[in-house]
Formats: sequence, structure tokens, C-alpha cells
Amino acid sequence: MKELKILYLYPDLLELYGDYGNIQVLKYRLEKRGFKAIIDKYCINDDAPDFNSYDLVFAGGGADNEQSILSKDLIKYKDDIKKAVQSGVFFLLICGAYQLFGKYYKGVEGNIVNGLAVFDYYTEAIEDRKKRCIGNIVISANLNGKETKVIGFENHGGQTFDINTSFGKVLYGNGNKFGDSQEGFMTENVIATYLHGPLLSKNPEVADYIIKYCLDRKYNENLILEKLDDTFETLCRNQLLEIFKDSQ
Ligand code: GLN
Repeated sequence: MKELKILYLYPDLLELYGDYGNIQVLKYRLEKRGFKAIIDKYCINDDAPDFNSYDLVFAGGGADNEQSILSKDLIKYKDDIKKAVQSGVFFLLICGAYQLFGKYYKGVEGNIVNGLAVFDYYTEAIEDRKKRCIGNIVISANLNGKETKVIGFENHGGQTFDINTSFGKVLYGNGNKFGDSQEGFMTENVIATYLHGPLLSKNPEVADYIIKYCLDRKYNENLILEKLDDTFETLCRNQLLEIFKDSQ
């Protein structure tokens, strides 16, 4: 049976916004198609993970305090993570994790949290707790050449700068900073985004894009994934897009 190995980073600290749901969706959509999902969790002081042995690394969102705590641990793996990114391991990073893969995150108190600098962007929160990008968000992302509406919920004080390749164009909501036209960061094997939701529960096409990438890379194939019954997901999406349509 074909399988994917998933590494879930800091499930105890980066779990403020329910992003664990992304792991559940990946597991569900893999197993529904007869693939095995092996999910390992890594917390501070666990044995060092072998990042290159995984097909997908996932980390979710969290508060400034938790980001500051874990950054001291995460930085230990800077070189291993860089190698894994370069070798094509897929990284799905949500909000707080997204920020920590850049040069630094400057928190709402003005404190600098060193990032991994795997990517050149950086993030600075507005030093006013009331000034946060909060609300529903819709972007248009290019997934293998297909423009796809991606729906989520954003909740971040951090404003991210110096993005050269975004995850998508903002149709409704803020994006990388207040009133930005772009949201997130994307390369062939990285999706870093502010979209909570959880992201993959609202966007099955994004989940399947990631699953296909990982299986194709691991088994050196060009798989056509079996279509799943997404009736319910589609109903929810259409209802949400209807609500936001006048603002796009
Ligand atoms: N603490 C960070 C911020 O406020 C990240 C928040 C999050 O992960 N949703 O920007």
C-alpha cells in the first residue's frame, strides 16, 4: 500500500486556531483512496526529526508567546529544514509557522523572534493589539495552472513583507498585510498562508494538490487521484463565495 509520511510540528504550541484539522483532512483524503497516512508529531525536547525522511511537514498557527518559546527550539533544525525544502519535501505552514520560516517575526510587544530565514520575507506586527487582520478571506491561487478560489479565515497582527511569490491574489479580506493584494507565500513544494479554517477542510482542491505532489514525488509517477465525493464541501464553498461575491 502506498503511503505518505507526515511530520506535524509543535502540535501542543501551534494549535490556537484549529489548524490540526488540516492533518485530519489529509489523513481522510489519503485513506479514502486506499493510501496510508503515517503521522508523526514533534514537540520541544523530542528526539530530532529526520526532516528529509518525510513527504510533508506541517505546522499551524499560534500566539506570539508560543512562537517565541518554540523559535529557540526550531532554530536548531534550520540547516536540516533548508535541506528538506531544497530536496522537495512539501511544507504546509499556517500563519505563525509561516512567519517563523522567514527572517524574523517582530511581535506586538516589539520583541524580535528570530526566524529560520529559509525564505527572505519578514513579518512585523503593529504594536497595537487592536490592529489585527481578522475575518473571512478569499484568494485566487494558481494550482497546476488552474485558478482556484481558496477560502479561509485570517487572524494575525503580523504584517508580512518582501514576498516574491505569493500563494494567491486577494479577492476578499486582507492578505499578507492590511489591504494587500497578495496573500501567503508559495513555491513548488511550499504553501505558507494566513488562511485558517482549517484551510484544507474548506478547500479540497488544495488538499488534493498537496497529496498529488507528495505521491508523485515519492513514487515518481503522475498520478490521477480518484475523485472523492465533495458534495458537502462544495455546498459550503458556494454558500461562502455567495456571501463574499459582492466584495470581490
Ligand atoms: N501571533 C502571530 C500574529 O499575531 C500569528 C497568529 C496566528 O498564527 N494566527 O500575527
